[in-house]
Amino acid sequence: MRTAVFPGSFDPFTLGHLDVLNSALRLFDKVIVAVGYNSGKKGFFPPNTRVEIIRQAIGENQRVEICSYTGLTVDLCKEKNADFIVRGLRTTTDFDLESVISQANRTMEPELLTVFIPAGHEYSFISSTVVRDVIVNGGDASGFLPKGVDISKFIEQNRQGK
Ligand code: ADP
Repeated sequence: MRTAVFPGSFDPFTLGHLDVLNSALRLFDKVIVAVGYNSGKKGFFPPNTRVEIIRQAIGENQRVEICSYTGLTVDLCKEKNADFIVRGLRTTTDFDLESVISQANRTMEPELLTVFIPAGHEYSFISSTVVRDVIVNGGDASGFLPKGVDISKFIEQNRQGK
């Protein structure tokens, strides 16, 4: 069985991420969407909320697992028995950053292959940063987010510090 890890901050998960995930599901039997977080760095949404948003975005799918992790992606791949890492590419800047990370991962784990999936052109401008800016400034971010995500609920939870 071909298993890939799709790691990211997913703060929050967007239509761009969903597009990459759907492409990855054409290549792999199972895709593990892994929310990476750093306990010292506070994100916008807490990791458990990011996982819940992804769950709402994807619904029931036996071929998708969602988890959160800290530490190295290569260690998560070992733990999950995954031989592939999936990353999305929007721009040449993404490529420059991603190629360095993939070389580092390959040096640590030569058998682990990173697969880059190009952004769909209609989603290539979407980033979690833009979504957070829209939210912070009171705008409607739903056009950037997968159907089924009740973002207002999570914004309210964030406001109440839950
Ligand atoms: P990270 O902080 O690890 O870059 P992100 O959540 O920002 O995490 O992104 C996760 C992955 O999704 C990265 O590979 C990123 O390049 C990719 N990605 C983000 N937005 C898009 C998009 N609109 N189209 C395609 N890939 C994207």
